[in-house]
Amino acid sequence: MGPEPAPQTRSLPLFNLPAAGKRDLRPGLSGVPSGEVAAWLTSRGQPAYRTRQIADHLWSAAAQSVDELHTLPQAVRAQLGSEFRLCTLAETEVRPADNGLTQKALHRLDDGRLIESVLMRYPARGWRRARATVCISSQAGCAVGCPFCATGELGFARDLEVAEIVDQVRFWRHWLAGVGQRLTNVVFMGMGEPLLNTERVLAAAAAITDRERFGLGARHVTISTSGIVPGMEQLIAARPQYTLAVSLHAARPELRDVLVPLNRRYPVDTVVAAAGRYAVATGRRVSYEYVMIEGINDTADDAAALVQLLGAQSTHVNLIPMNPVAHTPWQPSSLERTEAFALVLRSAGIGTTVRRNRGVDIGAACGQLAADQGGAPTPAAVARRRELLETRSAAALAYRSRG
Ligand code: SAH
Ligand code: SF4
Repeated sequence: MGPEPAPQTRSLPLFNLPAAGKRDLRPGLSGVPSGEVAAWLTSRGQPAYRTRQIADHLWSAAAQSVDELHTLPQAVRAQLGSEFRLCTLAETEVRPADNGLTQKALHRLDDGRLIESVLMRYPARGWRRARATVCISSQAGCAVGCPFCATGELGFARDLEVAEIVDQVRFWRHWLAGVGQRLTNVVFMGMGEPLLNTERVLAAAAAITDRERFGLGARHVTISTSGIVPGMEQLIAARPQYTLAVSLHAARPELRDVLVPLNRRYPVDTVVAAAGRYAVATGRRVSYEYVMIEGINDTADDAAALVQLLGAQSTHVNLIPMNPVAHTPWQPSSLERTEAFALVLRSAGIGTTVRRNRGVDIGAACGQLAADQGGAPTPAAVARRRELLETRSAAALAYRSRG
């Protein structure tokens, strides 16, 4: 399958992303499949069991440099170090929130690009076991340009390589081991659109779920997409057991064109139809994400349109209050409006959860920390963007005054 075509979106990036530094061309070792590591060792006259030794260092001990591979002979370490990078995250800064239940990491890559990952811990409750979910990035920036999203504001910088994705998981596994906890779930809900970097995202998910490497159950991995239909088709063909989450945010096409600009290319009904095919192919229920924006997508009409769109699909909807981080003219819906919206969905038999926003105080909607590093956009640029969004959303909402 060839690379996905670049999406034609009309995004409104506010930042001039700084020019990237030089890339280190050595591949990250955690992104190399075990078979290739074995072949590399064999070609250097090394016994097969060294593959296991390397895997143990990478996955159990989360080694950061070749010096830590102490079970390998010095010469093999040196050769490995000259051809591969042990860790692709050059620097990481961790910030806590929610009394430490949420931890957000800003990672600097070797070319200076910044990405984010977030750890969310949920203590055991009743029969539910404690969970530690890591939300990871798949791209630096994002080309889709949803106007309520901090990553969308940044625009697109580049795809992450497999090891850059996987090393975020290794980082948090190691961090959790330090406090005696285990990582239980991985969600591709950080920066970027996973299904515009599908091959690498699938390779990273394979590493995370491979018993010889990270060994997480496939059902504990969630891939979230804004609705890239060709990428969804690729997933359907692969029939993995990953959970698919689809970011809808609006059922009416006119409004979704504004909130998820890629809707012009992959219309919402084709996205929902593809999600239905994924559910049939994998036997897994698809979940839908819906960011609640006061007065924009949270009315009784919007809820009714959503019920109609989802039809008889067996599905689950997560309602997420918009994190007021981006430079938008909008506010999150009140809890009252959100509950009223949820009631319409539940009455139609659609399982619905009202999510609490985690880590708002550290800007947990991904992209915020990276955006802060980019410096503040000029007030004139922010004002222009707000005005444009108000005009576009008003045009999309004109049907209401027409009755
Ligand atoms: N690009 C993918 C995955 C990353 S975004 C996607 O859009 O699905 C992950 C989730 O965070 C999406 O559901 C997105 O809509 C949500 N999100 C982005 N900005 C947000 C904000 N300001 N408040 C609440 N959720 C937000
Ligand atoms: Fe990209 Fe997802 Fe943000 Fe939209 S919500 S801009 S698709 S990261």
